[in-house]
Amino acid sequence: MANKCTLDIELDSSVKNNKFFNKISKVSLEKMDIFKYGILNEAVPKKITERDFEYLESKIPFLYGLYEDFIELDKQRIVNLSEEENSKRISETIGVGVGLLYATQLLDVNPNIIKRIAPSEKGKYLDFKISKNNREYEFETKGTINHSKKSTLLKDIAEKKKNSKTKATKCGIITLANKERNKKPSKLVVSDDWDENTENIEIEIKDYFAYYEFYLSFMLDSTYYNRMHKKIEKNNITKNMIYTKRIPHFYSYKGRRYIGQYFDKRLILDLIAQFYHLDITMELLYKRMTDEFGKKQIFMGIDSKIISYLNAGNTEDIKYYSGEKVFEDKEERSLMLDSDGIIIVSSDGLDKQFNDNFTEIEVKARLQYVLNSIKNEPHECGAPCRSKEKEGEPCQKLTFREHCHFHRDE
Ligand SMILES: [Zn+2]
Repeated sequence: MANKCTLDIELDSSVKNNKFFNKISKVSLEKMDIFKYGILNEAVPKKITERDFEYLESKIPFLYGLYEDFIELDKQRIVNLSEEENSKRISETIGVGVGLLYATQLLDVNPNIIKRIAPSEKGKYLDFKISKNNREYEFETKGTINHSKKSTLLKDIAEKKKNSKTKATKCGIITLANKERNKKPSKLVVSDDWDENTENIEIEIKDYFAYYEFYLSFMLDSTYYNRMHKKIEKNNITKNMIYTKRIPHFYSYKGRRYIGQYFDKRLILDLIAQFYHLDITMELLYKRMTDEFGKKQIFMGIDSKIISYLNAGNTEDIKYYSGEKVFEDKEERSLMLDSDGIIIVSSDGLDKQFNDNFTEIEVKARLQYVLNSIKNEPHECGAPCRSKEKEGEPCQKLTFREHCHFHRDE
């Protein structure tokens, strides 16, 4: 099975004669693009609690698993293999992933200027927006395996546009994917409501934060993520908002350092629940999960340069940052690096950096934390207190991890 495909773009009557849209007639994509852009459909969490393992440990490997198992590409088709209830979710992910990739190519921009439109935002119109040359573009992305739904979806989008109060150019992108048995090529259908209005739009540091914080929510220790998110929400951007010491891991590639987090299929809460029973020991649980799933691991990270630009509040440097776009599919690892500095690597236990940086000792330790949480058995942190009155006494703060968040700093 190929990992890439090229899709034709069908311009709806609303844009058929528009020069701007006629610039691109095809979109080429790699399978990894669908995951990387498709996850932007997930919400940015307002607050992550320390025991939210469903988010912190499970979400990325779960979504990656869906994408890996249920999406296939051949030359001209994106195939949604799922016959189950998650089929719709997969079509949606395909719609967002392909739609956003196309949007960045059409506008020729770095993906880091994609903005999500929060549901609560006034006069919400579409799902994502991108600003370029003082013009704002809003995008509604849809995905389906049912090609005959095209006209209904176009109507839905047109209806939404009518109700919109914003001045932006509004673009609808529908990805018509396939079931295996449907051999017709997949394609993109694009509609638009061209608007010559321009506004004075400057991209600010908060916009970049809004983009990268989604990825950071999986990497940065929850206490620090929550602090950062609050500041972004209040538009109170200060220096050093990303506490890099609390991003646990890194991956090196072509002389650059990407900081982020490793994930493992064996740490998915739902899967652990299948093997869990009251008397199970951690060792036995670890063994059963490993026998069943083996080592399926993912690293997600951000170029450390981007982090330092964000921490310095340096909008200009981010604006001119353009990383190389790379796809590698080797036996020991699959890797995708995008121009926004986001790297995603997956490995089945053969990559040396995974084995060195994300050891089985750590997998076991994290499995223990999840188990503590399932059993609802927190323990006292126990690290020596640093406050004057209690100096040296063991900390009594309850935690599911090794130490409480104050003491994980050291
Ligand atoms: Zn403590």
